[in-house]
Amino acid sequence: LLRVQGLQKSFGANRVLDGVDLEVRRGEVLVLIGPSGSGKTTVLRCLNGLETADAGRIGYDGGPSIDLAGRVSKADRAAMRDRSAMVFQHHNLFPHLTVLQNVIEGPVQAHGVSRADATARAEALLERVGLAEKRDAYPFELSGGQQQRVGIVRALALRPDLLLFDEPTSALDPELVGEVLKVLRGLADEGWTMIIVTHELAFAREVADEVLFFDEGVIVERGAPATLFTRPEKERTRRFLDRIL
Ligand code: ATP
Repeated sequence: LLRVQGLQKSFGANRVLDGVDLEVRRGEVLVLIGPSGSGKTTVLRCLNGLETADAGRIGYDGGPSIDLAGRVSKADRAAMRDRSAMVFQHHNLFPHLTVLQNVIEGPVQAHGVSRADATARAEALLERVGLAEKRDAYPFELSGGQQQRVGIVRALALRPDLLLFDEPTSALDPELVGEVLKVLRGLADEGWTMIIVTHELAFAREVADEVLFFDEGVIVERGAPATLFTRPEKERTRRFLDRIL
């Protein structure tokens, strides 16, 4: 579905991504792990076009391989942005809009979907995550876990090929983490293609097809979770896992 080659990004003198290559096949779940500041969020932001990379290529199947070092045309940028949707650490819902309005905003404004169609789809998605009865509530009336589930529905409503999750549970109270992970598990079972940044290693082990360990802007090691978590090859990976397992 997606191939990323040689992704590089610096903030001033700080080289945050130093040549990242990754490939995601349709239906696959990739999990990115690694220390804070290693560049995981920046990868997602570059894929979603929220951040401009300094170098590298990104290509989705059926589309051109875009050279990010060159001038990326508006059309290429828009095409890239449309393929993925991101779920943030903090849900980023509009506080002055209801749940339903938050969900249909993107499809109606950005994709020109009719309000009626967008509403019908939003209702179905809200139902699926157990939030049908909250459609007219405002974000402040919801728990953190409910807000995050709305954030997920908002991403799904855009019908992206690829879902990007940036530590979707790390801002939640521990008792609310489970309900969000359950939604993610459901999406994995349904065959959604996802890249998930998370510190929830037990969850990663369960849903990931491939785990990528990041450190200092490079992928140090990658592999199936059963292998990477139990028999990491690299000393750096081992040290990281020892610290947090
Ligand atoms: P975390 O787990 O803490 O979210 P991360 O692995 O996702 O960490 P990034 O958020 O990608 O790491 O950040 C990587 C580095 O880039 C950090 O040193 C951070 O300070 C720096 N950085 C990120 N965004 C910016 C920015 N807009 N301007 C300057 N520096 C930035």
